[in-house]
Amino acid sequence: MISFRSRLTSFFILIVVVPMAAVGFLVFRLIDDSQSGKADARASGVASAAATVYESASSQASLRARTLAGDLALVPVAKLDKRAATFAAQLGLARVTIQVGARPVVDIGNRTAIAPGIALVTAAGKRPARTVTASQLTASAYANELASPGVDVVVRSGATTLASTLPGAAGRGLPTSRGSVTIGSNTYHVLTQRFSGFDHAQIAVSVLSNPAATGGSVGADRVLAAVFIAGFLILAFFFSLLASRALHGQLSQFLGAARRLAGGDFSEQVPTTGSDEFALLGQEFNNMSEQLERRLAELEQERSRVRKSIRRIGEAFASGLDRDALLELALKTAMDATNAERGRVSARQTPADPLQETIHVGRLAGLEGAIYDAERRALAADGVGEASVEDAHLATVALGSIAPGGPTHGLITVCREGRGFTEDDLELLRSLASQATLAMANVNLHYDVQRQAITDDLTALATHGHFQELLSAEMDEVRRYHYPVGLIMLDIDNFKSVNDVYGHQQGDLVLHSVADALRSSSRDVDVAARYGGEEMALILPHTDLEGAYEAAERARMAIEALQIPLLDGQGTLRVTTSVGAAASSDGNKNELIAAADGALYVAKREGKNRTVRASAHTANVVGGE
Ligand code: GH3
Ligand code: MG
Ligand code: MG
Repeated sequence: MISFRSRLTSFFILIVVVPMAAVGFLVFRLIDDSQSGKADARASGVASAAATVYESASSQASLRARTLAGDLALVPVAKLDKRAATFAAQLGLARVTIQVGARPVVDIGNRTAIAPGIALVTAAGKRPARTVTASQLTASAYANELASPGVDVVVRSGATTLASTLPGAAGRGLPTSRGSVTIGSNTYHVLTQRFSGFDHAQIAVSVLSNPAATGGSVGADRVLAAVFIAGFLILAFFFSLLASRALHGQLSQFLGAARRLAGGDFSEQVPTTGSDEFALLGQEFNNMSEQLERRLAELEQERSRVRKSIRRIGEAFASGLDRDALLELALKTAMDATNAERGRVSARQTPADPLQETIHVGRLAGLEGAIYDAERRALAADGVGEASVEDAHLATVALGSIAPGGPTHGLITVCREGRGFTEDDLELLRSLASQATLAMANVNLHYDVQRQAITDDLTALATHGHFQELLSAEMDEVRRYHYPVGLIMLDIDNFKSVNDVYGHQQGDLVLHSVADALRSSSRDVDVAARYGGEEMALILPHTDLEGAYEAAERARMAIEALQIPLLDGQGTLRVTTSVGAAASSDGNKNELIAAADGALYVAKREGKNRTVRASAHTANVVGGE
């Protein structure tokens, strides 16, 4: 992983150092080229001077040769040598050669003399023709005259070096016209020209120019260029460092902000001064942070809603699985889930009941028509219906059926402003409805079990246990408010023989009919119970002994009047009962039951089919026996 800093360094090298190195290379190259150009130019200049000097020396030498030839015209051949030497010295000649006919007779002076001039004396009479060749210039004088700092001259005749201003050049091969040669540590540009010398010999004059020795300016140029490039690099590095610092600073801010966001701190914003990309990035960053904060707030709300829902479900459990509490929970959860402000539940308790509004939240006035439409559609379609009026949108979901194939438990309708329901919302309502239906079924099951525990199956009267509970509660009231409570105990006469004669089923029907008669002959506030076997009881709140007696008689006569159909359809049968009536105003339950039971016992003993009032005596009779 390359760090940001090393990336910047790479960029710096790529866009500054590499081009600068190329520029440096070029500049040095140019300096070199200009040096070698200068060296060439210098060599050419010296070469042309060399030609001029050689030619002019040659023509000067010709004049001298002619003068010498005139001076020696009358000198006999034998004396030529001596005289020629004298005249040559007078004329300042470096070398003189004379041929008489084809025979060389004189050769005096310096053998390295060059640029000779020739004078021809034609034959006259007996005197043969003479050729006088003279030179004023020695090779070393010539070379020294032309040479200058950085420029050397080598004069050769064939392989013989006549003169050289460069000691190392002796014995080295030199280019025949133009080229270069390396001597020692220097490379010289060389220009070679040929002139004619004595005896038709070829004189090669080579000018050697040293580019490196063109003076201090070259070094100065290089130093200047190097300083310039180094300066540029230092400046570039400095600015890059500044830019890197600035970028790094900006990035650090973003990094810090991002870390704060990650830590859940939205308080600080990234500074967004200026209008560059960093400012834009900062703005986007701040936008993002705001959105994140908003989204978090929404999530927090959502969470609190979920918490509320959970609490509500808890409350529903705490409410002892009450049916209405469950429907209310379903409605409020549906409203929460869909963000609805209003809603209602219409439900029925048994399959035979019509649907009736059970709970509602918010004002529903003006929505009646839409509610009706949505509910009708939900019943007609697959359990979900929608309707809207003005800006209000309604969705209804039907709960499942009470019994297999039966009508629905009810309908949940939610209403919200401005926004219609999405397929997601409807799906949520459906799933909620199916859960609520399950819960309703559980509640009903619970009711059934509870009813079974407190109600006798055969007679639909309160069970013995429930009778005891109810009587205890009644006795509490009696003790608190001091009103009387009556109790009658009733036993079917000779019931065993009904079973024996007609069978147990007939006996059951008798029990059922007697229970019905007991219930219908009593008041709504009275509670009838099956005390055990064919013995029944009736609790009579706010009733004294006389009232209890009257109620007992009423019941006894109603039962006596019953015409109970025989199961085989062959007529009816009738039964009688013996009844004991008692009352209490001190709230002692056991005494009251014993009193009523004792009175019943007396009624049996006295001949059955009668009612006996309890008294202290009868109670004692029972207790005593
Ligand atoms: P008495 O007049 O003295 O009350 O005579 P009895 O025959 O009614 O009294 P007994 O207590 O001897 O008989 C009660 C009978 O009631 C005995 C029992 O078989 C019958 N019995 C109790 N519970 C039921 C019931 O649920 N169904 C039917 N068919 N018979 C029952
Ligand atoms: Mg009995
Ligand atoms: Mg009986």
